[in-house]
Amino acid sequence: MFKLLGTSDDVTTCDCCGKRGLKMTVALDRDGEVVHFGRDCAGAALYGRKSAGNTDRVKFWAGWIAYARRTIAAGTDAAFAAAEDRLSRAGIEAARCGDELMVRTPQGWTAVAA
Ligand SMILES: [Zn+2]
Repeated sequence: MFKLLGTSDDVTTCDCCGKRGLKMTVALDRDGEVVHFGRDCAGAALYGRKSAGNTDRVKFWAGWIAYARRTIAAGTDAAFAAAEDRLSRAGIEAARCGDELMVRTPQGWTAVAA
């Protein structure tokens, strides 16, 4: 079972297929272990098969998680409120939990740290 955690510009090799030199990877929780997959492989891991639609779903959720991380980076109440409001207007459930913003992805709640 995989869950989307976020994105990384530092890890550029896919742990799934070994492809190198990617612009970015998607960080996934695989049964408690963090792995980095390219977006196509992440689409297959999260949604069952490689397809343009599934890669787009990964881009959608990875984009919102990256947005949430950027927005709460200041760590202020206003920053958290702004992120929660924007996500909620996009139809995505989000709730502050201490220093983290919980974002509800199709695979479950992902904790986004500031
Ligand atoms: Zn791959």
